[in-house]
Amino acid sequence: MAYIITRLCIDCLDRGCVEVCPVNCIYQQNGPATADRPNMLYIHPTECISCSACEPECPWKAIYEDRELPAVFSEDTAVNAQCEQQPAAFVVAQVQRDAEGRLLPKRRPTTEEVSANRAKWGAP
Ligand code: SF4
Ligand code: SF4
Repeated sequence: MAYIITRLCIDCLDRGCVEVCPVNCIYQQNGPATADRPNMLYIHPTECISCSACEPECPWKAIYEDRELPAVFSEDTAVNAQCEQQPAAFVVAQVQRDAEGRLLPKRRPTTEEVSANRAKWGAP
């Protein structure tokens, strides 16, 4: 059992999830995005301890426990697993801080923006 970041995260990368993960098992790409490796964060399926801390932190509601993953996102299980299968292509995602080490503020999407993003990707 692990948590999955879905394509609802694409192009957000605010890393709110990274700030709360106790085991640093959320990864970002070490290189440019590709068609099969989109611009999003990835949860390592073996390193994730399923603590659930990340899920409520995601403003885009992009994170699911694998057994609750909507069918429309079923391909994202394999997308996340790329960070385990292709370790050279990923690095542990870093929390974003300013020059003084303070966490950078995050843009909180509106309810309408979250709904529009979910509709775009066919989320139930
Ligand atoms: S469920 Fe816990 S261990 Fe897994 S990615 Fe989220 S915060 Fe990290
Ligand atoms: S908090 Fe959600 S949208 Fe932001 S980077 Fe993490 S998974 Fe992506």
